[in-house]
Amino acid sequence: TTNIYYGDDADASHIEDKTVAVLGYGSQGHAHALNLHDSGIDVVVGLREDSSSWSQAEKDGLRVTTPDDATAEADVIMFLVPDTIQPAVFEAVLDGLEEGNTVMFAHGFNIHYNQIQPPEYVDVTMAAPKGPGHIVRRDYENGGGTPALIAVEQNYTGEAKDEALAYAQAIGGTRAGVIETTFQEEVETDLFGEQAVLCGGVTSLVKHGYETLVDAGYSPEMAYFECLNELKLIVDLMYEGGLGGMWHSVSYTAEYGGLSRGDRIVDEGVRENMEDTLEEIQNGEFAREWINENQAGRPAYSQLKQRDEQHEIEAVGAPLRDLFEWEDDVNETEQTEVPA
Ligand code: NDP
Ligand code: MG
Ligand code: MG
Repeated sequence: TTNIYYGDDADASHIEDKTVAVLGYGSQGHAHALNLHDSGIDVVVGLREDSSSWSQAEKDGLRVTTPDDATAEADVIMFLVPDTIQPAVFEAVLDGLEEGNTVMFAHGFNIHYNQIQPPEYVDVTMAAPKGPGHIVRRDYENGGGTPALIAVEQNYTGEAKDEALAYAQAIGGTRAGVIETTFQEEVETDLFGEQAVLCGGVTSLVKHGYETLVDAGYSPEMAYFECLNELKLIVDLMYEGGLGGMWHSVSYTAEYGGLSRGDRIVDEGVRENMEDTLEEIQNGEFAREWINENQAGRPAYSQLKQRDEQHEIEAVGAPLRDLFEWEDDVNETEQTEVPA
C-alpha cells in the first residue's frame, strides 16, 4: 500500500530548529529556499561566487554564501543544482558534511546510479515536488501546496523519514499530499514517464500526426492546430477528470473514433518499445549513455535538439502562436495591477 501524508501527519519539530543549505537558486532552488524561509526555517543558499542568481537570492531576503560554506554550517543540505553538476558540487562540499547531517535531493538520479556516494554517517533523503519551481512557490504563496514525494535512501540517525516529511511540509507539500516512495521507484518512473509518454512519446505522436496530414496535402496550419494546439484542451480535460472526464466532454464521434482507432495507432509494437525503453532505464543503460554523453560535451544531444528545432511544425507554429499573444497580454495586465 502507498503511504500518503497530509497536514497533521508531519511533525515540524524535526526541521524547525535546523539550518538548511539550499545549493542552487534556479527553478527548484528558489522555491524551496523561499518556502522554507517563510515557514520560519533558517535557510542559507549556496552558490558559486560568480553566480548569476546570487544577487537575486539576496534581494529575495536570503542569506547567500558558497556551497562549501553553506554545507559546513547547515544540518540539512539540499542539492538543487542541475543533476549533471551535482556530483562535482558534492565532491566540493564533502568536507563540510558532519555526522548526522542530511543530504537531500529532489530527484534520485545521482544516488540511484551511484554518481554520488555519500558517507555512511549521514542521512540521505528526498523531497521532490511534482511540479516546476515557480508553481511550487506560487501554490505556497497562495496558501496551498504542490504534491510531493519523499523517500529515504540512508537512515543513519533513525529520524530520516520524519525529517523528510517535515521538510516536505515546510515547502507546502503536505497541504496537497506527500507520497512516500523509494529513490529507485522515483528515478525509474520519472525517466520512463518523460521518455515514453510526457516528453518523448507525445512529441513523436504530434510530429507523426502532423506529417501524416501535411503529406496527404492538408494545410500545415490546419495540421498544427489539429495535432499540437488542441492537445492542451484534451490534456486539461484528462487532468481534471481522468480519461472518463475527457471522453465525456468530446463529441460522440470523437469518442467512438478515438476508442476504436487509438489502439491501432499506439499498438502492441509501441508497447514493446516502451518495455525496451523501461528495461534500459532499469539496467542502467540509459544512465550510462547520458553520463558518457555529458562527459563528451553532449554531441548526440546537440544533434537531436537541432533536428527537432528544424522540424517544419516549429516554423509553422511560431507565427500562429504570436496571433494569440493578446491572451497573454491580458493576463499580464491583470497581474501588474497587483501592488508590488
Ligand atoms: P536549475 O537548472 O533551475 O538550477 C540552476 C541553479 O544551479 C542555478 O542557481 C545555478 O546558478 C546553479 N548552478 C549551476 N551550476 C552550478 C555550479 N557548478 N555550482 C553551484 N551552483 C550551480 O535546476 P532545477 O531546479 O531544474 O533542478 C534542480 C534539481 O531539482 C534537479 O535534481 C532536478 O532533477 C530536480 N527537479 C526539478 C524539477 C523542475 O521542474 N525543474 C522538478 C522536480 C525536481 P548559476 O548558474 O547562476 O551559478
Ligand atoms: Mg525528470
Ligand atoms: Mg477536431
